[in-house]
Amino acid sequence: MASLTIEGLRKEFDRGTIVAVDDLDLEVEDGEFVTVVGPSGCGKTTTLRMIAGLEKPTEGSIYLGDDDVTSQSARERDIAMVFQNYALYPHKTVYQNMAFGLRMSTDLTKAERKEKVQWAAEMMGIEELLDQKPDELSGGQKQRVALGRAIVREPKVFLFDEPLSNLDAKLRTTMRAEIQQLQDELGITAVYVTHDQEEAMTMGDRIVILRDGELQQVGKPTAVYDKPANEFVGGFVGSPSMNFVDITARTSGDSLVLTDGDDFRFSLSPEYAANIDVVDGQDAVLGIRPEDVYTADPGEDGIETIVEVVEPVGSDNYLYLDIGPEFIARVSADIKPTMGERIEITFDESKIRLFDQETGASLLHYTDVPETPAPEA
Ligand code: ATP
Repeated sequence: MASLTIEGLRKEFDRGTIVAVDDLDLEVEDGEFVTVVGPSGCGKTTTLRMIAGLEKPTEGSIYLGDDDVTSQSARERDIAMVFQNYALYPHKTVYQNMAFGLRMSTDLTKAERKEKVQWAAEMMGIEELLDQKPDELSGGQKQRVALGRAIVREPKVFLFDEPLSNLDAKLRTTMRAEIQQLQDELGITAVYVTHDQEEAMTMGDRIVILRDGELQQVGKPTAVYDKPANEFVGGFVGSPSMNFVDITARTSGDSLVLTDGDDFRFSLSPEYAANIDVVDGQDAVLGIRPEDVYTADPGEDGIETIVEVVEPVGSDNYLYLDIGPEFIARVSADIKPTMGERIEITFDESKIRLFDQETGASLLHYTDVPETPAPEA
């Protein structure tokens, strides 16, 4: 395995009218599993294809370990890619599909190739399928074969392009766990593209968030969740999404009052306000996650709101409140207000996030965002 470094990567299409990837820098440590997530068209696949050597960058460099591979063809790069549509040869058996890459790119003997395919097939639990053709297999089995075919080559880096999107929800969960287990066992360096933020959060050692070809944030899933660099990341990561309220910040001595000019009014202590970069009267966007919204205790000074919808989701209830276009409180299932009921809510101030209304950038200084430590060798 090897580390992967991307420097100033840019990809233009249609003579520069489309910028699919814009000045992307990324370092993936040896043995690290990095997930790349973002909305449709944000440049995930194009990034992956450039790393694989299937697309030529307009600008920038790609390194495998210390080797600059930017001008190498896909075949020359020691990288394996697993696709959403499996990309298996339909007329070859599972064995032939898995052995084919080895035959083309190594000078292993037939016996050595057989041994390797056997090893990868065992790893993926598909020994029984080696004589079958792809159209005799289920979606999950096909994806196991595609993974086995990638493993067998023992590449320096694995690239995954939405490999689980064609599978049903249950199988997706199983395969996620299998890929993670595989990573533990083989210590693979991987870049895994998905549009599913939950998948990205659960699988990645670190998560990369793209939007319109531009990097928004890179970090451990917990860091990205707790300390979003901007409003987009805050809203993209987590389900249900972070709530946003347009507010005006008013200084009051050393503390700060955040209000929408109506019922929404929350005071921050001087200690917390000291971390925030706003001036008196500045408009901003307050962010608070649904699980960080509480119903106020009797006598506690809460924000008055009306419950529009109560949605039970098993252990919790989602309360849709009449604050802004959509505002959800995730409360425990034993809190069951009726529709139309007036309740008071409050927050722990340390959970409040604040963003610039124009740029979306965080106005809160996250002084202690932990850096991802390099994985152990
Ligand atoms: P999705 O999740 O929908 O697969 P993505 O994040 O993988 O999207 P890309 O496929 O990388 O996004 O596309 C990024 C942008 O580049 C899009 O605007 C897309 O239309 C454009 N694009 C990609 N490939 C080409 C191409 N060959 N020619 C022209 N434009 C392209």
